[in-house]
Amino acid sequence: MASNNMKEIINSWFDAHKDEMIADLAKLISVKSVAGAPKGDMPYGEGSYEALMTAKEIIEAKGFGTQVYGNAVLSADMNVGEAQLAMLAHVDVVPEGVGWTTDPYTMVEKDGALYGRGTSDDKGPAIAALYAMVAARELAPELTKNCRLILGSAEETGMGDLHFYEKEATYPPMVFSPDADFPLINIEKGKFGPDFYCDWVESTALPRIVFAQGGSVSNIVPRAADALIEGLTAEDVKPMCDEFASRFGTEITYRDTDRGVIITAYGVAAHASVPANGLNANTVLLTVLTHLPIAESEPFYRLKQLAALVPHGDFNGTALGINCKDEESGEISVNFGIFKFDLHGMSGNLDMRTPICADSMPLAKMTESAFRKAGINCNVDHLLPSHSVPAESEFVKTLLAIYEDYTGLPGEALSIGGLTYAHGIPGAVAFGCSFPGRDPGIHGINENFLVDELLVSAKIFTQAIIDLCK
Ligand SMILES: [Zn+2]
Repeated sequence: MASNNMKEIINSWFDAHKDEMIADLAKLISVKSVAGAPKGDMPYGEGSYEALMTAKEIIEAKGFGTQVYGNAVLSADMNVGEAQLAMLAHVDVVPEGVGWTTDPYTMVEKDGALYGRGTSDDKGPAIAALYAMVAARELAPELTKNCRLILGSAEETGMGDLHFYEKEATYPPMVFSPDADFPLINIEKGKFGPDFYCDWVESTALPRIVFAQGGSVSNIVPRAADALIEGLTAEDVKPMCDEFASRFGTEITYRDTDRGVIITAYGVAAHASVPANGLNANTVLLTVLTHLPIAESEPFYRLKQLAALVPHGDFNGTALGINCKDEESGEISVNFGIFKFDLHGMSGNLDMRTPICADSMPLAKMTESAFRKAGINCNVDHLLPSHSVPAESEFVKTLLAIYEDYTGLPGEALSIGGLTYAHGIPGAVAFGCSFPGRDPGIHGINENFLVDELLVSAKIFTQAIIDLCK
């Protein structure tokens, strides 16, 4: 906890360095650093590399030595000796998209906010962390333990950048990543994304489903799904479509074509970690299809088997027999994100977010066996365990106390279904920089970061270094 005196000193240090900080951030924002394919010895392409080199220049101008790992990650140490604390941020961004009111790569200040791609995610937090290290070195020269800033350049494209760091260096016992939300995230659910598939011999019996499909990414609740049915007309399917549209509170359309009727089911998109916040077009479509007078055949039988495993409104794997929950991290969630069906087979993907208790369950085997009993193959390769740091640890308690002290807001450790940059790093938590109750437009258009929030984040990090590195 800060003494009033130290808090005042930190406040006035940042008053004096505010303009310099904003100028450095503008420099970093001007690099269009969308991570891409490798080019020469740049594993994530030119943009990511250039942002890393710009950050290196900014950091070295403050008098810190730097180290580069495989042209993918950069680190800088506050002083010599073994690091006790690390701050992990990234300098790559997602594509800007269309509809910006200003140039996304020319940072502008308007009404107390800094606009530009990466201001909030994650170049602004990276600059806040760097300046915290500068301030702590200057204001608390007595600190004996080391603090390390680690900057990656491919967080947005799968976090493979950290492997380059891990090949050559280790993490200190305490790590926080300002690449998510305040107050602090200490629990992140695990992730499991089984693919399912099966093939069959084409059935010519009518009516038949010629194709059905919905969703293109596994981590989003699909917004639309459609199917072509040969041997039925719009008039034939109208009663079922209308009934389920009203039962599920959504829209289902149908129109005649030369080959048959096309049905389109509409849903509401949401992130896969919170499927109940959306409405799944795939499960709406499956419900309608299985209630239509389709000719009995192997394809239709398998489709009904699949529909029984992922019924509409089952967000927690009850029908799959994998439902589980614990007090700390909550309940498992299941999103049926991608579905494809044609005359020769079907395939799809589920995105599951798994609570801590699932780490000790044979989840892959259970899922595989549920699909196998339905005559559907299931590929269960990628299973990422949950990540957690005890809320009662000194590290978490210290960070939350500083947050409360500097913001006057309640500090509380959160559990989420999404993954942050901290996932899988032992002892790491996500800490900042999005404040509760405000949407800074991360990954969207007109991304911004309030100047006040940039400053208070940097002050919080300064105090954290002082308290944790003494
Ligand atoms: Zn980020």
